[in-house]
Amino acid sequence: MDTPPERKLIIAIDGPAGAGKSTIASRLARKLGYTNLESGAMYRALALKAIEWDVSFDDEAALLDLAKKSRIKLEPSLGGNRVLLDGKDVSARIRERDVSEAASRVSVNPKVREWMVDRLRELGTGGGVIMEGRDIGTKVFPDADLKIFLDADPVVREQRRLDQQKIRGPSAEATAAELRERDRRDRTRATSPLVPAPDAVIIDSTNLPEDEVLRRIEELVEQKLTQTRS
Ligand code: C5P
Repeated sequence: MDTPPERKLIIAIDGPAGAGKSTIASRLARKLGYTNLESGAMYRALALKAIEWDVSFDDEAALLDLAKKSRIKLEPSLGGNRVLLDGKDVSARIRERDVSEAASRVSVNPKVREWMVDRLRELGTGGGVIMEGRDIGTKVFPDADLKIFLDADPVVREQRRLDQQKIRGPSAEATAAELRERDRRDRTRATSPLVPAPDAVIIDSTNLPEDEVLRRIEELVEQKLTQTRS
């Protein structure tokens, strides 16, 4: 008798900035042959559009209207997600400091979040995805097959971010301060704040090499796949 094709899982990886979510999601996706989706890139693309169209980050109705008129597309690639906003490649632009700050302010608005959650669900339905963000396990896919909450000490996260972006000198402190502020906003907002889902596996990567984080998650995936086979 033929063995049925393996069920494709939905894997949620949440956590604060600089915890290593994107790198881990991308490496895991490559190993499993899954698609990695960076939900933060969607918020960033909308935030960029708000900057370009001069829409206030606090004007919920105008932001929702803007979102509905926007075409935001994530194209997973080996190096992360390529992001298209209304057909234009904005992958590099959305990583700049002004957009990081704008994304965290735009994402506070509940109606914007609702719209985004619907889009993200459309992208993930069918499985075979690793979606990373802040509320994937709590809100976007509360029934995800596996939920990881990847955390690390704030000082270590700041340093990783500075190293990644090769930021040195006077702008380093400003960038670190912005990261702290973004974290604070993400954790304290009223709608879908950054918290681990009750059934998430928490991994603290402060003292763990990336390979070890990946190994632990792969082990959890394997356990999950074994359960789905039986
Ligand atoms: O993950 P990334 O740092 O690119 O996300 C940018 C911002 O988008 C975050 O600081 C957060 O405010 C928001 N975000 C969110 N929910 C998600 C993903 C990102 O609120 N699922």
